Amino acid sequence: MTAEEENVFDVYRDQVDRPLSRLFREYGTDELHWLVLGMVANVVARVASLVPPVVLGVAVDAVFAGDGAYTLPLLPDAWLPTESAAQFRFSAALIVGSFLTTAVFTWVYGVAANNFAHRVMHAVRTDSFEKMQRLDMTFFDDKQTGEVMSVLNNDASNLEVFLDNALQNSARLGVMILGIAAVLFYYNHELALVTLTAVPLMVLFTLWFMRAVEPRYVEQRSVVGDLNTALENALSGVELVKTSNTEDHETDRVANASYDYFRQTMSILRLNYLYRPGMEFLAGLAFAVTFVVGGVWLSAGPPGPFTSTLTVGTFITFVFLTQQFVAPLAEVSNIVDQYENAKASSERVFGLMDVPVRIADDEDAVDLGEVAGRVAYDDVSFGYTETPLEDPADADEYVVDGVSFEAEPGETVALVGPTGAGKSTLLKLLLRLYDVTEGEIRVDGHDIRDVTLESLRSSVGYVSQDTYLFDGTIAENIRYGRFAGVDHDVESEELRERVIEAAKAAEAHAFIDALPEGYDTRIGERGVKLSGGQRQRIAIARTVLQDPAILVLDEATSAVDTETEMLIQRSLDRLSEERTTFAIAHRLSTIRDADTILVMEDGAVVERGTHEDLIDADGLYAKLWGVQAGEIEGLPEEFVEKARERHVDRGYGNDD
Ligand code: ADP
Repeated sequence: MTAEEENVFDVYRDQVDRPLSRLFREYGTDELHWLVLGMVANVVARVASLVPPVVLGVAVDAVFAGDGAYTLPLLPDAWLPTESAAQFRFSAALIVGSFLTTAVFTWVYGVAANNFAHRVMHAVRTDSFEKMQRLDMTFFDDKQTGEVMSVLNNDASNLEVFLDNALQNSARLGVMILGIAAVLFYYNHELALVTLTAVPLMVLFTLWFMRAVEPRYVEQRSVVGDLNTALENALSGVELVKTSNTEDHETDRVANASYDYFRQTMSILRLNYLYRPGMEFLAGLAFAVTFVVGGVWLSAGPPGPFTSTLTVGTFITFVFLTQQFVAPLAEVSNIVDQYENAKASSERVFGLMDVPVRIADDEDAVDLGEVAGRVAYDDVSFGYTETPLEDPADADEYVVDGVSFEAEPGETVALVGPTGAGKSTLLKLLLRLYDVTEGEIRVDGHDIRDVTLESLRSSVGYVSQDTYLFDGTIAENIRYGRFAGVDHDVESEELRERVIEAAKAAEAHAFIDALPEGYDTRIGERGVKLSGGQRQRIAIARTVLQDPAILVLDEATSAVDTETEMLIQRSLDRLSEERTTFAIAHRLSTIRDADTILVMEDGAVVERGTHEDLIDADGLYAKLWGVQAGEIEGLPEEFVEKARERHVDRGYGNDD
């Protein structure tokens, strides 16, 4: 994906207005006390660090050269010693005292600034994750997970760096420039003018740099997202990559993305290479000019238009303070870096947060309450949109087209038909993973768009073809969704009993019990240590525990061996008793007893009825049944015999 091919975030990103001030408004205000404490401590520490050069200059003139009064700015003369040895001791004490003050307040500032930055980052990360989870399914179909990861990780960290370093460094810079300028002007405004001529040059140079670097940062952020997407895709699909021998292809893909990132980073760094030494040169120039002009002044009197006198002590103060200029000014490039980074990052964060969510609770959504399980599809049509941004009404073509049916509580409706006919999609609509484009779906008489998502989804159990297990123990996976603080004590004996009961009902107890640590066995990421059939039974146990009034079974019996299939089928039959059940199955024998069978083709229901009705009707269903039962007319007898054998083997035969 190139940067020109906009991803969905870009659109909202471009609309984010003044992202950093929004960051402060929305997240900074709660932690403002840390920021203020950090800023104050920072200012005190920096001001204290200006004291030694001033004291040194005064001491040189008054104590060592003896040609000046011992006076200090801000301190009344009455407080100061008059005798030379005492003045020396007082100066030494002041110098030690200010270093100590700097140290103590630098510590306070570190603690406060880090607290501020990390607390804000934590809140931003948590909020964007929360928002990300609520995004519509269409958003995830678009495979933007790399982008999202990068928002949650990189962007949140960029904000942290900015809120901590950049903010405090610019405060330090401000204090140093203003403080040093004030001291310089106080002691000799003419030489101060000479020293500070470099400052406007630095400002101009910095403005140029910011303008040049900003678009490159924006580009860099988007390239990082592409790189993450490439990495993430290759990792999630590692099995496919290995089996298709596409390691080199994937390496190329990552290499390309990484090279783009490298190029973009270098284009930023090239500017940095220029900026940093440039700033240091300008700061050094200020130092050199001060040294030369001050030196001439001391040896030959005020040069050019200048008239004031310059003492050795003041000259020393100037030289020391001018040097202190250099370090914070050279930081400007970092501050600009971090500022640009943070601006782009907060744009991305808010870009994510601003993506509108279509499938969310209506303002006056009601709780479904106790669900009987009456489900009605009323002329339902639906089509996928190309991108999550499109209006669903603009879907190119319907994959579910004018489907109507009703299911009474406890009934079983089976969906059959060729792959791609729209069966899964039809059932996903019931869970509001997508919203219908036309028509409506009712549960117990409520349009599902008028009820809360939580009450809808907790009353519908979903066992999909793709069983996902979280990293954690088997017991945790079975009781997933029932957490402490709701109405369960997760450690309670009672819940444990119910987990075991559920596992028994799902025919999973035997294999779980045989594991070394039983229910406390940890399953690796994606449940890799369990077979497909075992994972499916854990998912079924989870649904048993959920105890929903309505059940959606999406091809739950595919891809397992015969014995497992029988176990699964038995547990599903048990599970679907008393519940309104919608089942998609490729193996027609498993849905023979369904109350209604809907035969779908190209998004529409082409036949409906009981198994017997449909066989009698001799349409598509009868043909599919014939194929599966091995009764294909017109084929040579031995062919039919083989097919029948195969079918019998698969359905009821061997145990291995
Ligand atoms: P079935 O379950 O009958 O195999 P599906 O409901 O999975 O059919 O798919 C119906 C059609 O919708 C297919 O053409 C499929 O390619 C398309 N489709 C399924 N899921 C998506 C999706 N997330 N985005 C876009 N198109 C999809």
